[in-house]
Amino acid sequence: MTSYSPSLDWLDTQHQRMCALVEQWAAINSGTHNPAGLEKMTRLLLDAFSSLGGDTELLDAASLESVGSDGQIHQQPLAKVIHIIKRPDAPRRVFLGIHMDTVYPADHPFQSTQHVDANTLRGPGVADAKGGLAVMLLALEALERSSATDTLGWEVLINADEEIGSPGSAHLLADAAKRCHLGLVFEPTLADGTLAGARGGAGRFTLVFKGKPAHVGRQFHDGRSAIDAMASTITALSLLNGSVPGAIVNVGHVEGGGPINVVPDLAICRINVRATNQDAQNAVQQHLQQVLTDARRHDGITVQMHGQWTSPPKPMDHATQTLFQHVAVCGRDLGLSIKCNDTAGVCDGNKLAAAGLPTVDTLGPRGGGIHSTQEFVLLDSLTERAKLSALLMLKLATGQIDWPNK
Ligand SMILES: [Zn+2]
Repeated sequence: MTSYSPSLDWLDTQHQRMCALVEQWAAINSGTHNPAGLEKMTRLLLDAFSSLGGDTELLDAASLESVGSDGQIHQQPLAKVIHIIKRPDAPRRVFLGIHMDTVYPADHPFQSTQHVDANTLRGPGVADAKGGLAVMLLALEALERSSATDTLGWEVLINADEEIGSPGSAHLLADAAKRCHLGLVFEPTLADGTLAGARGGAGRFTLVFKGKPAHVGRQFHDGRSAIDAMASTITALSLLNGSVPGAIVNVGHVEGGGPINVVPDLAICRINVRATNQDAQNAVQQHLQQVLTDARRHDGITVQMHGQWTSPPKPMDHATQTLFQHVAVCGRDLGLSIKCNDTAGVCDGNKLAAAGLPTVDTLGPRGGGIHSTQEFVLLDSLTERAKLSALLMLKLATGQIDWPNK
């Protein structure tokens, strides 16, 4: 522990700087669909992360494919992804990642930070994940200050579409996962410091029903109602809740129809699906297909399903468990008790795990109220969590943690 002290003690001197970074970044709206704000955020992040001396580039994200109210597929460009790499040929390579986007659009009322008390900062994205960006940056700076870095390479990915399931950056996450040996993701932990363990999986699907329009008064029986077909399908989908163990099917949005004297020929429903594990995911998938097959039996109705399982379940396998144990030991060295609980929430950790990378994905600061106007971060946890990740990387660099190479 003592040989790591200079780097860890240095982090104590950086507390004010970390607080200032979080405040500065949270004051910029970087909602996923605010390209101007994301560009501004990208410039600030490139500037801040230049202290690390890695090779930096902006990578293109894939465009977002979505089904519009007209039932047609639309493509929408997504912001570029920051990629920084250092010592790519080192025998051990760590992936570090977190997102710069937030759930708050540019016209959302929650736009500024406020000090609730000496240790609590409320504001948009302060925990999720601008605090995480600061923790990741400072943990790496602490590592780079050490002389024992030769054996440890690292790769940073900062995406701008995590809050919508990372549709544009998923392929970049998967590529990076293949080049690295373990993953550190800086989503916030719970206010008491509890990390997320196993995670369930999630999918987003859109069903487009098409029928045949007809005037209600003159030719009602020639028409085929897309809304009627959708309604019985939604009922069937709702019945999956409770009958498929470990699965949640939420029809969150419906639209369709038009003038009420016309049999509606278009209806659209959007569904969020959750599964606690792979078995549940397979079962839901099978039932979804069956519901779809039944829906297509409606006379004169066509049904198309778009979407996918965006985040496969993230189980606590042996390698991941070992990594958590190393994190817990680092915590103990620092006087922290690190626990973890399973969660139904998903994040990029699901995608990294699915690509074969053992990942701890809640190494950001302690906080809460995320995705609401009550979002807060506990400021003392910024240094605390930067030390935790720095210590883990320092132990990897010196070989004190002997992590298996791929
Ligand atoms: Zn997040």
